[in-house]
Amino acid sequence: MRIEAAIAARTSFRLGEIEVRFDGPVAVVSGPPGGDTAPVEVSLEVLREFVRADDHGRYRPLPGARTLPHGWEVRCASAGELRTAIDEVYPLALQHISQHERGDLRVVALDDVLQRQSGRYALAAGLSGKGREAACRALCSRCVRTPSWQEGTLPEEAIPCPEACSVLIALCREAALWESSPPAPSPANPTLPFAQFEAPGNEVREAYLAAHFAAPPPGPVQHRPARRR
Ligand code: SF4
Repeated sequence: MRIEAAIAARTSFRLGEIEVRFDGPVAVVSGPPGGDTAPVEVSLEVLREFVRADDHGRYRPLPGARTLPHGWEVRCASAGELRTAIDEVYPLALQHISQHERGDLRVVALDDVLQRQSGRYALAAGLSGKGREAACRALCSRCVRTPSWQEGTLPEEAIPCPEACSVLIALCREAALWESSPPAPSPANPTLPFAQFEAPGNEVREAYLAAHFAAPPPGPVQHRPARRR
């Protein structure tokens, strides 16, 4: 009960990109530091809307994306308000952490999620194993959550991800199309919409293409045996 224990003991902690500290009776939740200027105070009522856009004004379709706007804070008068603030920024994160710690987090395998897709997303199940790995690397590495459906033990500070999200499914769908006709890479453009994977220059798309289609490193130079005269 790492986070709940910290809330009960009123000790500072970090969760993803946010930091929580206690200032007398108030809990202060702050986003990534915004440089030399004092943080803007945001009310709990508008917090969900506020964190929907990143510093470029781009919509954030993935709440866990490491693209929270910089330089803001919310002051919470009670532990209940603090939990609400965390839930506005990272929906269900506290619930999933508690379930993981109790051992009753319901985890769904990536293949099960892809196989149950229908309509335009049914294509996603056709992505190869190598493609699925590259998609997880390109997207989940940009998210504060850690997939519980992958092999390995979660780090203690992790926010578990029990099931592939809709953004990963959308990436797997595009990536399945790219496997039959690989697009040319383009320079990454961080101002393009985060989940517009069909747009050349989209950061996640370019990271995927670089990881999946990169030419293997050259092998050792083969020397021909010298001819005998
Ligand atoms: S599937 Fe990946 S990107 Fe989506 S919420 Fe889980 S960890 Fe984050």
